[in-house]
Amino acid sequence: MSNSSKDCCSEPEQKLLSIDEGRKRILHAIEAVTATEQLPLRSALGRIVASTIIANVDVPPFDNSAMDGYAVRSKDCSGTETRLDIIGSSFAGKPFSGSVNPGQCVRIMTGAVMPDGADAVLMQEHVAQRGQQIHCSGTVAAGQNVRYTAEDTRRGDVVLESGTRLGAPEIALLASVGVGEVRVNRRLRVVFFSTGDELSSLGNALEPGQIYDSNRYAMFGMLSRPVVECTDLGVIADERDAVRNAFREASEAADLVLTSGGVSVGEADFVTEMLDEMGSINFWRMAMKPGKPLAFGRLGKATFFGLPGNPVSAMVTFYQFVLPAIRKMSGENSHAPLLFQARCTKHLKKAPGRAEFQRGALELQQDGSWTVTSTGTQGSHLLTSMTRANCLIHLSADSTGADEGEMVTVQPFQDFVG
Ligand code: AMP
Ligand code: MG
Repeated sequence: MSNSSKDCCSEPEQKLLSIDEGRKRILHAIEAVTATEQLPLRSALGRIVASTIIANVDVPPFDNSAMDGYAVRSKDCSGTETRLDIIGSSFAGKPFSGSVNPGQCVRIMTGAVMPDGADAVLMQEHVAQRGQQIHCSGTVAAGQNVRYTAEDTRRGDVVLESGTRLGAPEIALLASVGVGEVRVNRRLRVVFFSTGDELSSLGNALEPGQIYDSNRYAMFGMLSRPVVECTDLGVIADERDAVRNAFREASEAADLVLTSGGVSVGEADFVTEMLDEMGSINFWRMAMKPGKPLAFGRLGKATFFGLPGNPVSAMVTFYQFVLPAIRKMSGENSHAPLLFQARCTKHLKKAPGRAEFQRGALELQQDGSWTVTSTGTQGSHLLTSMTRANCLIHLSADSTGADEGEMVTVQPFQDFVG
């Protein structure tokens, strides 16, 4: 890490904060937005339900057939060869209006209303049709191949709890109970920018000593989710007035201000100084690798996160601290991280002291087990270690690495989507 020389000198002076403790303090300090808005179902995709939704209808609204076949009276099918007269048909959306009496049946299709009198459906593959009769052998239990009224949702049931994130299944469920609009929490306003004199924006040729600003693209990518409305303030130079103005503009408009770089008490890092002047910010040194420095606090009414400048540190820090905060601020019900165990294909090196998030490639083996392989050199400046990975390997602070064949905890990148 670029700040390693400073870190090595200041480490004994300030205790490192554990990841759990840091996350606990963050989640304790923030609250969910309270404003809501009513949206058409499709626009609500990915948003958080603001109040419990109750069903006004039964789903299904009527008993219906689970198969294409014949609606029968189960008593009629005694086990010996049975012949039943076909007296009509019930198609999906076109019910049969009469009743099924002893010795009778109705041709029925999947989703069609069960006719009065019938209590079971014979699959068409199990009967032979001869003219206007069916021949069947064997018995049939009452209820066979019948889907009952309200089996999915009963009128008065809670369909979705407040705090639920609306994915495809959830908006489909709301549609199934006839709900066309839904009240959701308003989106979070997030303003972000990166700091650093060495940063050049895309489209410009690099001057000596410059690098392209990748963190703003990482932040844009990580923030682009339905619960967030984000604004990019660009690259802010390491210069007092520029940093002050950016913070002022950001804090006026945002629920959350996110920056990258300048949180490691460097000579040209005015972020630290400005934040002390304009807000109440803690500069933490997290017991984690990558991503030791993290600034967190308030900037006016906004919550502030200052991510480290190294690109991998910025991303790992975002996923471990900022994303849980976004989930809480947007009103989402608590979200347990998706963690599981995978077997190392090769030795993983690690020194005890700080927890590590190594980048790994998960692979499903033919026997159904998961293996994980490090994506190689783990420098916090190496973005390729992220693009080659599909998970973070969590190694606890006291871990001394893992041997080939040992089980380690992994968090798939899939867990960061939303
Ligand atoms: P800092 O946290 O500002 O001391 O930066 C640490 C390291 O991350 C330095 O090597 C910076 O050049 C690099 N860095 C800072 N900001 C960015 C950025 N936006 N994009 C890419 N690298 C960055
Ligand atoms: Mg910097």
